[in-house]
Amino acid sequence: MADARSRPVVRLTPNARHRVLQGHPWVFSNEIASVDGHVEPGDIVEVRDRRDKFVGLGYMNPLSAITVRLLTRHDVEINGAFIRERVRQAILYRKSLYGETGPLGQSPKGYRLVFSEGDFLPGLIVDCFGGYIVFQTLTLGIDRWKEDIVSALSEFAEPKGIYERNDAPVRELEGLKQTSGFVGQPFDPVVEMDENGVTVVVDVQKGQKTGYFLDQTDNRFAIRALCEGKTVLDAFSYSGGFGLSAALAGAEQVLCVDVSDAALDLARAAATRNGLNGAMFFRVANVFDVLREFEAGNQQFDVVMLDPPAFARSRRMLERALAGYKEINLRAMKIVKDGGFLCTSSCSQHVTKEEFDEMLEDAARDCRKTVRIVERRGQRADHPVVLGVPETEYLKFRVCQVFDFR
Ligand code: SAH
Repeated sequence: MADARSRPVVRLTPNARHRVLQGHPWVFSNEIASVDGHVEPGDIVEVRDRRDKFVGLGYMNPLSAITVRLLTRHDVEINGAFIRERVRQAILYRKSLYGETGPLGQSPKGYRLVFSEGDFLPGLIVDCFGGYIVFQTLTLGIDRWKEDIVSALSEFAEPKGIYERNDAPVRELEGLKQTSGFVGQPFDPVVEMDENGVTVVVDVQKGQKTGYFLDQTDNRFAIRALCEGKTVLDAFSYSGGFGLSAALAGAEQVLCVDVSDAALDLARAAATRNGLNGAMFFRVANVFDVLREFEAGNQQFDVVMLDPPAFARSRRMLERALAGYKEINLRAMKIVKDGGFLCTSSCSQHVTKEEFDEMLEDAARDCRKTVRIVERRGQRADHPVVLGVPETEYLKFRVCQVFDFR
């Protein structure tokens, strides 16, 4: 156990003062003036400012461009008990938000239990789907605490099973191997979960990311009122989250489009489970092609959903990403019936809310439509946003009404 004096000390350069001293948890490699003491990758270090004043404690990985991620601004000991308490607090937050009185591992619903920096546990993602936990330790500094994390999740959430989805390429940037598998007792990896009364099918082993996108849960509920008796296109549907909600709300016809046949298999299975087969249709295709085809064939919908993957994976890719968002949104606006709705998302952390709205405005102008913003929404509260940490706020969701006149 390292006492305070034997802890390695990382001193910040003057240029790091602004952001880190104002509460942001990341120290980049070029913001480090010196390191005193021996550091093994993943070790806890003490961060001090250039005047040697204590800033906080975090874990360090010299291999990563984000070299230190702060865990606390207090001079405490970072140990298993510290990490376990953070996990416990994260679980308590969800329980109080959603009025869950029993263990979350007994709930039929789905929750993100830990949202990385949003829960002051950088690098850790934990989702719970109908009692089954899926986790990712995406940085070396958090991966080291895996045993404590798993034991805390078992104790405080009492899940039916735990699956590790560390087959994420970002781990390689940290010098970590990709790996995945059951932790403890194996279980059928295709699990069911209740989302606002819809039974959703989640493949925790082969599904995308952790298996299901819980950040859109409230938005899927928000679109229901628009869909009754309507024709709906769920573009980039994945396992059918939006489409199932639309169909349950009484949509006349829902077409789910995704390039992944495996994703549509999950959507098909869920449609059957919910007795919605008559209203739901599925097509394996590239959305860019399908939008062009519908435009050319004058095929229109009352409601179009767009929920593409992140087009911008870095700020440098922003221009191209915005062009991609504009293209699909413009084409989608063209195939919405006069007075119908476009429900459009971006999960790119590098695209700001303002840039997203400007892109929509450009798209509307270019296709000569009048577009009214009905609602501006974001990620659900189990993906909490920390002020001063813009990376925690990534999801933009807009309900737009599209009119032909201009
Ligand atoms: N709307 C979904 C989440 C979508 S995630 C939900 O509510 O859960 C993005 C999806 O887009 C993935 O399923 C991916 O397979 C799909 N995808 C990526 N590029 C695509 C393209 N060009 N055409 C169609 N689907 C695409």
